[in-house]
Amino acid sequence: MKYLIKAVTTNNRDLKTALLFTIEERSYLFNCPDGFQRVALSNKVKFKGVRYVFLSGIQADYYGGFPGFYLSSRESSSGTIADLQAFKIGVIGPAKIKEFITQGRCFYGGLNFIEIFQYGKLDRFYTEQFQNGQFTPKISKHDPNNLQTEKSKKAKAQQQQLQSNQEEEKKSYEIQQELEESQEECHEFQDNYLKVIPIKVYSSDHTELESYSFICVPKQNRGKFLPKKAIELGADPKFHFKILNEGNTVTLADGSIIYPYQCTDNPLPSQSFIFVFIPNKNYLESFLSPENKQLFEQFYFENIDQKCNQIHLIYHSVAFEVLMNKDYRDFMRQFGLNVKHVVDCEEVNDEVQMKVKGYQLSSRHALVCPTLIPLSKMAIQRHQEEAKTQLAEFHQVYNLLISQVGQVFNLYPINSSNVVDNSQVIQLKDLYTEEDESLNTEMQQLIKSLLKLKKNEDPNMDLEQYTQLDNSIDDTEPSILFLGTSSMKPTTYRGASAIYVFIKGSGILMDSAEGSYGQLYDHFQKKEIVDEHILKLRVIFITHIHGDHQLGVLKIMAERDKLFNMAEPGNELYVVTPQPMWDYMTDYINSALRYPTMVKLVKISDLNPEPQLYYDNESPQYNPKQPHIKEGSQLFKRKYSKTSVILCPVRSYEEVNQMIENHQPNHQVSQEMLRMLNEKMNITHMNAIEVNHCVESFACLFGSPDFGRIFYSGDTLPCQTVINYGQNVKLLIHEATFDDALEADAKSKKHTTVGQAIEIARKCKPWRTVLTHFSPRYQKIGEIDKRHQEHRIMVAFDHLRFKLSYLEWAYKFLPIYSNFFTNESTDSEAQYDKSRDFMLQKQKEINDINIQQIQKTQNSTTANAENKKQ
Ligand SMILES: [Zn+2]
Ligand SMILES: [Zn+2]
Repeated sequence: MKYLIKAVTTNNRDLKTALLFTIEERSYLFNCPDGFQRVALSNKVKFKGVRYVFLSGIQADYYGGFPGFYLSSRESSSGTIADLQAFKIGVIGPAKIKEFITQGRCFYGGLNFIEIFQYGKLDRFYTEQFQNGQFTPKISKHDPNNLQTEKSKKAKAQQQQLQSNQEEEKKSYEIQQELEESQEECHEFQDNYLKVIPIKVYSSDHTELESYSFICVPKQNRGKFLPKKAIELGADPKFHFKILNEGNTVTLADGSIIYPYQCTDNPLPSQSFIFVFIPNKNYLESFLSPENKQLFEQFYFENIDQKCNQIHLIYHSVAFEVLMNKDYRDFMRQFGLNVKHVVDCEEVNDEVQMKVKGYQLSSRHALVCPTLIPLSKMAIQRHQEEAKTQLAEFHQVYNLLISQVGQVFNLYPINSSNVVDNSQVIQLKDLYTEEDESLNTEMQQLIKSLLKLKKNEDPNMDLEQYTQLDNSIDDTEPSILFLGTSSMKPTTYRGASAIYVFIKGSGILMDSAEGSYGQLYDHFQKKEIVDEHILKLRVIFITHIHGDHQLGVLKIMAERDKLFNMAEPGNELYVVTPQPMWDYMTDYINSALRYPTMVKLVKISDLNPEPQLYYDNESPQYNPKQPHIKEGSQLFKRKYSKTSVILCPVRSYEEVNQMIENHQPNHQVSQEMLRMLNEKMNITHMNAIEVNHCVESFACLFGSPDFGRIFYSGDTLPCQTVINYGQNVKLLIHEATFDDALEADAKSKKHTTVGQAIEIARKCKPWRTVLTHFSPRYQKIGEIDKRHQEHRIMVAFDHLRFKLSYLEWAYKFLPIYSNFFTNESTDSEAQYDKSRDFMLQKQKEINDINIQQIQKTQNSTTANAENKKQ
């Protein structure tokens, strides 16, 4: 039997803890922080079969990765219709979880496969019984003798007293209510495998949201089967042993019944465990409240009479200050010396969680032209030596272990030497193998010789001069950083859509997929720099509702919120939001942020300079509460069977300028944002240009007399509005999801192919074009061919960062990139071999050419010499 706990991710600066408990084939996930799936994937931490997800809160550090997790689980389960029908994920969270997920249904793609439960609502918990695949909801009540709070005991006693005294009914009713309420707070979750008792804790100054920790009691293991006992009771080894061994009853010929427990050993004790999530010391008082202490007491070592409640492991995803607190240590001590304590503190862990594959690829990309991908060295040091020393002292008293991503704790069979399994942990030596190093060195040399070769062939191609330019972010001109360039979802190699534009010390983020914050962290490495850029971020423009463009906004808003000690009017973040996400965003801002006034939502359609919608003229009636438009319904007919489609007119450049100039947003907050953009960044207009993708899809356009216009298409089919408003822009960033062979796919998914994007660039005549949003099938590099050179088009990579003027020459490096990176194999080792083969071959070619050149010069010298002789 499998019975284990796995650290899917740990508590770091950029990402928080996610834990998995697996019993037999079923798994339970505890928290889904923003970006956790990608980190797990790239560290080869696998998990599947998750049936329930427990959330400590609705903050991005707990919930931020849930939508992405749900969507990818659903996608991977849907092999057949039957698979999809069997698929279900239950999410259990604090108050508001239901509204919150329901409001996000526009990007959840309906809520048919999610069950939502709320802590403290007894009636929302189910005990599952699989009978013909049916769910039987059953109210799960705790054992009143076992898990009774002080409050409910008191209430009960009072009630009994009242009843005996025949007091007035009203008071009795009130107390009855109180009793029920107190029972509600003392809820627990239970299915056939696991009982979870959530512990709610508050921050003492009430500035932060509640957080939940969990006591988990898995089902008891059946005792060992005793054949002798079974024979004594009349069982026939041939027919009955198997049945009894599987835990079923046997009826003998004489009608007597043998129960399995009659012929088994004492059941094995259940290996209980506690997951503690305490963000800071302000929560301690509440965590160690008398009420909670009473709950913990049943599990304290000295109180354990039945072994079934014994706690074997406590996982501390807490702040270091909590771990060092005396009261908290007392709490730890009570569970006895045999408990395994796993410590997962941000202060002790590595600063950043490694996205190994992505980093390896980016650092290799960076070899071609370090000016364009200025990657910092991976922060591999555990920080805070002091914390480590303190921990070492601490370690002598407790059975301590520092958590690592991929670490597995076996709870069964009980065998202390077998408790921790580190085989899935990727060590630093795995990340930087000598082989990698030598490959990088080889590659670096080869790139150098390639650059020289190009210069020899064509003196205009002196690329080496660009490889070491100053690419600092300064006020002289805008800098653009691609945080993610994948479409659909983040992959091991690429993040999903997010582009940070730095202008005059402030920032605009165009789209913000899940993990954008982590990518920003990977890029700059230092917390101070990341904090600075998060604080200076003033606008997030969400082009449309798809998860690969917006799921990371919550995390960015939350991190920004953490940087304030008080609301600072004048430093608000404006989030340009499509209508279907409006309520969801409003709710998050008001319930999960400490300073909700520091985020202002701007209606995306308010920035549209056109008088009407062309591709989606039904969207004003779009109703987020009506997720499925049924085929044959009136709405379906109106939406999809339009007979007359109003085509967007072809507009001249002058007309476009007029439209932009005359456009006045209706809402005050939009006007306010435009004023701020003007003051801070000298941006004279920001517009949302309707594109042809999903409901409320827009491109982002803004301009300044300092640098001209920047246009980012978001996701779209090739469309006239882009051709209109993209005219003569300085920089056109266009999606190019598929290569030309997949045009039909592109059309059905409403995306653009590389060829189409190049055609749009040809029509718009921007100064430069960058293509991005590549399908996950192009893991290493977007499709590149001769056309890019012809049209001076650059291809985006994760961590590509450039000053606008660098686009003058950046595209010239593309042939070098495409020499070294191909998408043929997704298997990295094979890929490395391939790139080595390629390099060796290239080396040979270069040598051959060099030899030829040498021979040529030799020949000519000899010829000259001979001529002279003659
Ligand atoms: Zn997309
Ligand atoms: Zn999309």
